[in-house]
Amino acid sequence: MKTVRTIAEVRDAVAAARATGRTVGFVPTMGAFHDGHLSLMRRARERCGFVVVSLFVNPTQFNDAADLAAYPRDEAHDATMARADGVDLLFTPDVHTLYPGAEATTVAVSGLSEVLEGESRGAGHFRGVTTVVAKLFNIVAPDVAFFGQKDAQQALIVRRMTADLDFPVEIDVCPTVRESDGLAMSSRNGRLAADERVRALALRHGLSVAEAAIAAGDRDAARIAASASAAMRERGVEPEYFALVSAATLQPVVPLAGRILVAVAAPVGPVRLIDNVLVDVPAT
Ligand code: AMP
Repeated sequence: MKTVRTIAEVRDAVAAARATGRTVGFVPTMGAFHDGHLSLMRRARERCGFVVVSLFVNPTQFNDAADLAAYPRDEAHDATMARADGVDLLFTPDVHTLYPGAEATTVAVSGLSEVLEGESRGAGHFRGVTTVVAKLFNIVAPDVAFFGQKDAQQALIVRRMTADLDFPVEIDVCPTVRESDGLAMSSRNGRLAADERVRALALRHGLSVAEAAIAAGDRDAARIAASASAAMRERGVEPEYFALVSAATLQPVVPLAGRILVAVAAPVGPVRLIDNVLVDVPAT
């Protein structure tokens, strides 16, 4: 595995791989790798001849300066893990490489970006994500890019941007990887104290309560969200939002039917956690 910091080095390495007939898989990340990240790299390894991973803590998608400052960083450890998983090229640009300072252009996906995480974190969050992903797609020029279902709204928005702007990139969305007790893996989990780590399970529990209500025949999103939120509160966690929406449009579905995204965000101790499940709801 080669580690590079400049755009020119990425383009050269990708061109050399393409010249040998290899397809290019790309996994954009912010580092502090866990098994969720590694699952994307392994999927890329299975599907593509040349695997590129970017490691860049993108400042423009953070709405909270303290969250950006506290974001875990361990490039040396990440590089060891990426190498062990068969990554060919690790791209670790510094901020000035991607944002030299005179940028006037951003990419925004309207409609999908204002709700859920966009409502909580502000309109700038997804604009930061889509702008940096568009830049990275232009730098790496992959055939396939891999994203996690853990960030369901992000994956949907990136898919929409890719279609609307005709990026010649296939978006492959991979399942959420969880700890054995159900907690969705996240780079932020490492900042949880022992008691907070236990309380963090409330998110998965809330999702399970919603799944059980749907399975029992309830089709009232507001009622299901209220009972799931109450179950989380009993475990000492106050949801920032608990939503059941169309998995395609992120808009309400009344009564619930079709593919539904059940999504939750909640602060636990010093961190803000998100989780979600997809449920296929049969019409009753
Ligand atoms: P991040 O470094 O948090 O920006 O994440 C980089 C990629 O890994 C994104 O596509 C995330 O959705 C994905 N990812 C993060 N956590 C998980 C997880 N627990 N399971 C699967 N994918 C994940």
